[in-house]
Amino acid sequence: MSLEKFTIETVLSVKRWSDHLFSFTMTRPNSFKFTAGQFARIGLSVDGELVVRAYSVVSSPYDETLEFFSIVVPNGAFTSHLKDLTVGTEIYLEKVAYGFLTLARYQSPQPKDLWLLATGTGVAPFISMLQDFDVWKNYQQIYLAYSVRTQEELTYTDKIQQVVELFSEGHQGFKFIPIITRDPVAVLNQRLPLLIENGTLERVIGHGLNVETSHVMLCGNPQMVEDTKNALKNRGLTMNRRGIGNIAVENYW
Ligand code: NAP
Repeated sequence: MSLEKFTIETVLSVKRWSDHLFSFTMTRPNSFKFTAGQFARIGLSVDGELVVRAYSVVSSPYDETLEFFSIVVPNGAFTSHLKDLTVGTEIYLEKVAYGFLTLARYQSPQPKDLWLLATGTGVAPFISMLQDFDVWKNYQQIYLAYSVRTQEELTYTDKIQQVVELFSEGHQGFKFIPIITRDPVAVLNQRLPLLIENGTLERVIGHGLNVETSHVMLCGNPQMVEDTKNALKNRGLTMNRRGIGNIAVENYW
């Protein structure tokens, strides 16, 4: 892999949420541009080889640093090294950002109600999007549903609250819907496709999915993306192709 495609950045902070979830920030060169929802390709030198993986950016396109959210994949070639990073670790950053899980892709329907449905680390691009003023300006309703296995895995709740307080002035239409699937006493503990099929998600939100208005973004576990896509299609929603349609997706592994 050509090293010319990369800049070398430095880790500025590391936050460990649990033994298998962590976030980190690193320096951002002025030349690195991205749109909220896109991912960066970052690399580590492992035994003299550059190993690169895609990571959605958590931070806002206006931030001076870059933030990422990672799971430690057992015996993973990348994350088993990444998990040991500390302040000062050098990380390769590919100079361009990638990905089409961005709100700019929607031409029709026009923006009205936005449904951001995530599992696990798939919440990352949505936190970036919520830090974009255009999102708050363009959508009357914004719903973030975030499904994790346990309470311990429900990360970034403080950040979500802060972002909403900062960006949502005068906006009445935001709802955060945490789902904790392996907690029998959680308010919501069914998987997203079932919550759509049985109408619970819409009931909790107080608003219905609508073919004519809804933009629905899915990010995370590939099987969740597949199953949720099917549940939405059964409700008449369509995949967004060439700008037209309701559903946009990103698989995480
Ligand atoms: P996860 O198993 O993806 O679970 C997170 C949430 O997604 C849970 O609420 C889970 O519900 C739900 N979920 C799982 N399958 C679903 C489906 N078909 N439909 C709807 N919801 C579904 O947990 P994770 O911790 O984010 O990731 C688990 C494993 O995936 C990791 O151990 C790792 O090996 C792998 N992973 C790999 C990468 C990579 O880059 N290679 C990245 C992330 C994760 P339930 O509790 O009901 O299962």
